Amino acid sequence: MTSTIKDMDVQQSGNQDEICVRDKVHYCVYCGKGFMNIAKHYFGVHSDDKDVQLITSKPLKFPVRKLALLKLTNCGDFQHNH
Ligand SMILES: [Zn+2]
Repeated sequence: MTSTIKDMDVQQSGNQDEICVRDKVHYCVYCGKGFMNIAKHYFGVHSDDKDVQLITSKPLKFPVRKLALLKLTNCGDFQHNH
């Protein structure tokens, strides 16, 4: 038996959140608090901020939107660790 057949990862299509941050706590770049769903926090509490508005002004499926949100999330985590 030298077969090296691996199980193929079955990609589930659709129903993906804007950003997969639900299993981990991320820290808000503005108020420094930790949240399981940082995207929800940004779009809810900080919807007036220009960085957040820049993200929400983009269409939902725009890759730039995801990237900008990720950048904001990383920025908050970075601030928390320093
Ligand atoms: Zn906040």
